[in-house]
Amino acid sequence: MKVRAQIAMVLNLDKCIGCHTCSITCKNVWTNREGVEYVWFNNVETKPGIGYPKDWENQERWKGGWVRKKNGKIVPRQGAKWRILSKIFANPHLPEIDDFYEPYTFEYEWLQAAPELQAQPTARPRSLVTGELLNKIEWSGNWEDMLGGEFEKRSCDYNFDGVQKEIYGQFEKTFMMYLPRLCEHCLNPSCLASCPSGAIYKRAEDGIVLIDQEKCRGWRMCVSGCPYKKIYYNWSTGKSEKCIFCYPRIETGQPTVCSETCVGRIRYLGVVLYDADRIEAAASVENPKDLYPAQLGLFLDPNDVSIQEAARREGIPEQWLEAATRSPVYKMAMEWKIAFPLHPEYRTLPMVWYVPPLSPIQSAAEAGKMSVQDGMPDVRSLRIPLRYLANLLTAGDEEPIAAALERMLAMRAYMRAKSVEGRIDESIPERVGLTRA
Ligand code: SF4
Ligand code: SF4
Repeated sequence: MKVRAQIAMVLNLDKCIGCHTCSITCKNVWTNREGVEYVWFNNVETKPGIGYPKDWENQERWKGGWVRKKNGKIVPRQGAKWRILSKIFANPHLPEIDDFYEPYTFEYEWLQAAPELQAQPTARPRSLVTGELLNKIEWSGNWEDMLGGEFEKRSCDYNFDGVQKEIYGQFEKTFMMYLPRLCEHCLNPSCLASCPSGAIYKRAEDGIVLIDQEKCRGWRMCVSGCPYKKIYYNWSTGKSEKCIFCYPRIETGQPTVCSETCVGRIRYLGVVLYDADRIEAAASVENPKDLYPAQLGLFLDPNDVSIQEAARREGIPEQWLEAATRSPVYKMAMEWKIAFPLHPEYRTLPMVWYVPPLSPIQSAAEAGKMSVQDGMPDVRSLRIPLRYLANLLTAGDEEPIAAALERMLAMRAYMRAKSVEGRIDESIPERVGLTRA
């Protein structure tokens, strides 16, 4: 057993209000420079939607992540051939500026200079590429917010599996959620495996994945190799860049900028211990639905004395061990099983996890629109189809998502009964398999 520590994040999607404060504060700190105008290390996209960059979940197009060969081995999807050929020819799997968006600023002067009008003046967008005023902004990662019935024409099929047609265009059935995204600081990063220059590395002490700017030669194989499209090319320096998990802040005991400034308080940071010897086995399980449990199987119990001893032998410092015992990430992922990895089928073993949204279920339950089974609302009758959430978070396995939603719904009812109405339904936690702490 090789014990390693990883700094990780859980985002509770129920609480994200899509305000973009996280993206803006991240940009102000890390990508407010020439060459990275179009870059958002953290972005918040509307789901269902095609995201930022467009269509990022289409791995047939971008060749990101790993594929499992018949012999059980996993290899980067874009393959060694392209790692060599892209030194001669242009890499055909790179997203272009239109796949991100045309960077623009606003005519802020207009706000002060506008003559008195009946309506408030609005700042017009101006292209940062051509300098011209834009009549409209063609597209953004939140475009689907505004489309309504147009969903059917514009949005992508990913994660829908045939439930799409049934839902799109029917106002009373449409749904929307926000998905904040950043580099996943994967345990098995395919960006690292794609780099011909050996410039990408995963720090032993905390698992943060970084690009050595001295070694980067700008081949951009990492841009196509990352299935989450979270590496960006800086056209000014000719090097690739990515989220650094705010490591200068982490090293001084501060949270990441996105976590500290999150308006919805949706982000939880924590340390987890895992067995690095089992990474390859976990990433190469045959059935994609087994990837989520395989990743859970890597985590080690931070309260187990023998694990702690093994961690000390590996040189993991005491403060990290202590942090691991208090880790909200471990609690939500391992103990409560309410947090899930994003697209585990990419086989990179991502370490930014998500609590699926519950709110539409709660309103449906309150409106009496949910069917009830065994005295509990049936999460299968909810507005966001289980299949959609499962395709996003568990490679299509609906059972763990349903169990997590039931658990959260029960916990909400329990806490409300306890704190608001002053009575406790003792049966709720047991009925959904919760042990009351
Ligand atoms: Fe690499 Fe981050 Fe992409 Fe994972 S999410 S493959 S660590 S850039
Ligand atoms: Fe969501 Fe928090 Fe970002 Fe606002 S700051 S968009 S609530 S993650």
